[in-house]
Amino acid sequence: MSASKNKRNTDILRGIDFRRELTFREKKVAEIKREKMKILADVKPVPKYMITVDLSHARGNLDALRMCLTELEWKQYPFGRKDQHCDIHWQCQNFEQNPDLYGGKVNKFPGISCICSKNNLFRVLDQMRALYPDDYDFYPRTWYLPEQLQQLAHDIRKMNEKRIKPRPTFIVKPDAGSQGEGIYLIRDVQDYLVNNGRANVCQEYLCDVFLIDKFKFDFRVYAVLKSIEPLELYICKEGLARFSTVPYESPTSKNLHETFMHLTNYSLNKKSSTFNRSERDDEGSKRTLSSVFNRMKRHGYNTDRIWKRIEHIIVKTIIAIIPDMKIEMLAALPPNKPGPTCFQILGFDILLLHNLKPMLLEINSSPSLRIDSEVEVSPGIVEYVPSPKDEEVKIPLIRDTLLLVAPKKKVNYLESWKEVVHGEEMLYKKLSSKRQKKKRARRERRRQKHEEEDKKHREEEESRGPVQTERDGVIHVETQHPRSSIIIIKSQEDEDPPKKMHRESSFLLPSVHNVFTNRPETDYFNKDQNHNSIGNDGMDSLTLAYKERTDFVDKVEEDETDIVDRLIHDNLTDHENSTAKDENLKNNSEIKRSANDFCVQDIENQGNEISHSRYRNNRNNSDINSQGDGCHDDSKMEESSNSEEEVESEPYESCLKMLYPEPLAKKYECLRIYEKLAEVFIVSLGVRAAQRLGPTGFRTFARKCRLNKKGITNATIDILFIDMQRKWEHVNPERTTGLGFRGFLDACHEIARRKFANGSTLETMEDFIDYCQENLREDQLFQARCNPRLLPRRARPHGYPILEPMVSPVSSLIVEEQTGILLDSRLHARHYTKPSSAEDVDQFLRRHGQLRAIKPRKRVKSRNRIKEKDET
Ligand code: ADP
Repeated sequence: MSASKNKRNTDILRGIDFRRELTFREKKVAEIKREKMKILADVKPVPKYMITVDLSHARGNLDALRMCLTELEWKQYPFGRKDQHCDIHWQCQNFEQNPDLYGGKVNKFPGISCICSKNNLFRVLDQMRALYPDDYDFYPRTWYLPEQLQQLAHDIRKMNEKRIKPRPTFIVKPDAGSQGEGIYLIRDVQDYLVNNGRANVCQEYLCDVFLIDKFKFDFRVYAVLKSIEPLELYICKEGLARFSTVPYESPTSKNLHETFMHLTNYSLNKKSSTFNRSERDDEGSKRTLSSVFNRMKRHGYNTDRIWKRIEHIIVKTIIAIIPDMKIEMLAALPPNKPGPTCFQILGFDILLLHNLKPMLLEINSSPSLRIDSEVEVSPGIVEYVPSPKDEEVKIPLIRDTLLLVAPKKKVNYLESWKEVVHGEEMLYKKLSSKRQKKKRARRERRRQKHEEEDKKHREEEESRGPVQTERDGVIHVETQHPRSSIIIIKSQEDEDPPKKMHRESSFLLPSVHNVFTNRPETDYFNKDQNHNSIGNDGMDSLTLAYKERTDFVDKVEEDETDIVDRLIHDNLTDHENSTAKDENLKNNSEIKRSANDFCVQDIENQGNEISHSRYRNNRNNSDINSQGDGCHDDSKMEESSNSEEEVESEPYESCLKMLYPEPLAKKYECLRIYEKLAEVFIVSLGVRAAQRLGPTGFRTFARKCRLNKKGITNATIDILFIDMQRKWEHVNPERTTGLGFRGFLDACHEIARRKFANGSTLETMEDFIDYCQENLREDQLFQARCNPRLLPRRARPHGYPILEPMVSPVSSLIVEEQTGILLDSRLHARHYTKPSSAEDVDQFLRRHGQLRAIKPRKRVKSRNRIKEKDET
């Protein structure tokens, strides 16, 4: 029955229907299906456990990414997939780079480049400083030019009057600039270059900085923002230190223009003639953060304290920008539309003051992830060479970020699958060990035969002496290989046989085998150097090469069998380590179980440290331990018993350390006050996908929050709106109408100051937010009473009103709070929880007496239609 139905379906798909004409709708559906199948035919299927990464927009990050992905053995799509269906989409610029995504994870949050621009960032931090002056004291005082030019002039005058020593200096940076472009130092407002009204920030120049070898430096610290709702933030334990290339001196009017002295950007200083490219840890104009810390430690500085402070700075800064990110996110990815979720690597520039206080200079939303550096080989010609220090920092950062954000299920499954595959392979080889033994014996015989032949040949040659002929004035030596009929003629001049030839003689096998054995190719190739010339034992280089080749083939063949033993052993040791119970694995199912066991243990039970069982295996696989498995051959036992040095298996440690929620959430949760106002703002926006509040929206906000009860009239609201719009015009270069979130915040501050004044700014603001939230909650419940569609569909048993999934975060919060039902939220990137029972909802509704049960709406229309039909 089902087969015939299937056949009919496929017939329809092919456009053939033998019984009747297809209806228009069916034709359309079939057409769509055909289209879909066509697309899918183009997209090569991948196993469902495989983690796929789209690299079509990765550009500058490509090298590092490919290195990581090859190591992880994940599937890469350098040109993207036709159906856009990948687990991770890596984009080097911003979220908007690829607008066609409807799933997976993207490595950029929408609008973050704008949020992290200097102008925006310091304004946001200033607003936080207004509430928490003690917490937000980690960045230099900032003026926003050109609109605060007057203020700057006034402040400079005041400072000069006080005769502060040394005379204050200021640094001007273009808002949209990067890599030190357009930055200059000034001491007077007259020196400020009014640049077509382009936005600049002017900061107090931090002249009392910590120096190493008399050079100024700053740190690049990486943080990974895994999600914003709930907030999950990690810090990379390793970073970079970028040094200036001219010894530092306090700014004077003579040295203000010396960029190589005052700026530490790599992109600027690499052009300096004194740029030091040393690859040693403790030297060079670019170093790892750990090497700088080690050096400071040696000189008695408390680097742990500095690092703690840096961690706190990062958490506080992220908390400050989260409200803006939520608004951008809601606009770019409305909750009712399919779309990707986001994560991001951020680069924090931190300058260390002489008193060891770290200061934030800026956040880079797209920090450079290049792992090569430019070297000028001749004037005007640059060459890109690998940069080991960059690799040391950036490769683990990218790899661990990928592991952090990849679907956990797939990561676990993939790892256990790999283990199982290896395990099965081992088992298969183990089962066919008889065949292996035979093979080994045959190989042994062949080797002995070859050795005998070689020996014989050498003796013959020694007695005969090589045949020498002279041609073109060059003496040629003729040798015949013992096991071939080819006579090799070799000029005596080229004592070193071409390396290429030797390499060819070594096959391509090492690279293939490395994948499996994880042995470096050099193990096999490095021997070349010793055998380039005629050998000590009288063999010529080619004979040696041949011998080496046969040895190598033997070795590789041996390795094949050894790998089996080694892998069995690895699995066993891992299993022993993890369970300390079973000593031997005897059948396939046991191997599978062990593989699964330690994978899941590794990846899931590590808390905020990620562990990867494969890396553990990779680390050990060079060590062969013969004890315990009882299934190695005798020869193997001998070999392995020779290797006495055994490296203890270390669990793989991620370079990422969680900062939020653990351990800093408890301390800094209280700073997230503006997020509550962001929710109010979102409710007032009304129209989804909007980021700016129009005059009507602002009035709606005032009405919903019942500000008129506090004596704020509609006219006051309108005037306030116009004032704020004008005040925040400069951060709206596109001149779109309405009030952005920061303008709205300013307006809220103004209202709070006027009507809720109660001690400190923070207390005043808290009172204002409480008042707004209370009134909004009532308004939500009122609306839910009036509009049946305002209750969640899932929360509604038959006959209760319906709510479109998530009307707004506030409404979702209210319903969540009161019904205990978790609503959908794209911000959360969480899944729906199962709706609570109908009785729960019923109880809630009755208890609150706010909502009446509504009987199911009668389908009046259709009934009428049925009646009409009956009549006809
Ligand atoms: P860009 O985005 O162009 O790199 P930054 O804000 O990172 O701009 O500044 C570039 C360099 O200028 C920094 O690496 C630092 O060395 C120096 N610098 C920036 N701001 C200050 C400051 N307030 N005090 C001292 N040096 C600064």
